[in-house]
Amino acid sequence: MTHTSGALGLIIQITGVSNVVELEQKAHEFSRGEISETYGLTVDNRRRWTTADSVALRCSSYFEVNLIDQCRGTGMKVGAHQSIAGGVANAVDRQIDDGGNCGQIFTHSPQVWQNPSIDDDDAGAFISTSADHGISPWVIHSSYLVNLCTPKDGLRQKSINSMQQEVKAADRLNIPYVNVHLGAHTGVGEEQGLINAVSALEEIDIPEGVTVLIESDAGSGTKMGDDFEHLRFVLEECGHQLGVCLDTAHMFAAGYDLSTPAAVDETLDMFASTIGFDSLACVHLNDSKHACGTNKDEHAHIGEGHIGKAGMKAFINHTNLDSVPFVLETPSEDGRGFAWNIDRVKQLAEN
Ligand SMILES: [Zn+2]
Ligand SMILES: [Zn+2]
Repeated sequence: MTHTSGALGLIIQITGVSNVVELEQKAHEFSRGEISETYGLTVDNRRRWTTADSVALRCSSYFEVNLIDQCRGTGMKVGAHQSIAGGVANAVDRQIDDGGNCGQIFTHSPQVWQNPSIDDDDAGAFISTSADHGISPWVIHSSYLVNLCTPKDGLRQKSINSMQQEVKAADRLNIPYVNVHLGAHTGVGEEQGLINAVSALEEIDIPEGVTVLIESDAGSGTKMGDDFEHLRFVLEECGHQLGVCLDTAHMFAAGYDLSTPAAVDETLDMFASTIGFDSLACVHLNDSKHACGTNKDEHAHIGEGHIGKAGMKAFINHTNLDSVPFVLETPSEDGRGFAWNIDRVKQLAEN
């Protein structure tokens, strides 16, 4: 058996099977590590899988199957926030080029109030290309202008309307998650801000199959969501079943240390006791240009910021995060883009 990385990620060549049932059986055993020794692959190698949702397996008769379900959850999910310039389906191509197998998009410029405009062909191409290449899940990141905590009626209504458009787009694109920051209470107080966020979220009509994720924030100014307790409050009080997206750069800026293996354990233990990993649907994996507790939100290349390699490595390999997608929002600078950062994550997962 040989394995190589290609457009589809890991391709395993298995010989000595003559039908699909046998092939699937072998693939299943392989995914559980039961036949890894026979084929000279170690348990660590399995951790390296980048397309576990869509491992293309090829038997001696070149019979190809797509084992999306059988292999789900056995490998790391890592991808990046991709631009939809030229059409939403282009984000999938960009993800493939960068070596990612999950990802995030804005449905429109996040700096302005605007409705997503996606035509049917584009939506169809996004769905089919993602499926063909095993790229899932995708997340829609809502507009930066959305403020669920706001006491101002106009802004609140615009925020609700914008979120309504995002969940509709998610439904259309088969995207399971819409990510949102709680926003800022702008003087009305933390408690009232959170109450506002809960009621605003409850006004959104969320289609079946779509979950709104509330994201951890760096906590500058009066922004909420920098404390796990804020996220817990909204999760518990909201009538919708919500999920959580943790951003490593934001958590770190908010004062949750992630720069050493011990700090990662301590922070994730706190998360487990406050919120619990069952609610964690996505991680924004970013290093931080600023020190822990500074409340400054500026992302750095993985391992090159204040979280650093040791902290990132401990986080990436944390057992409770095995099946959680890592979505990168790292900068494009110093000649390094998403491909470099995704590769860095894979390296840290291996070694
Ligand atoms: Zn965000
Ligand atoms: Zn950020």
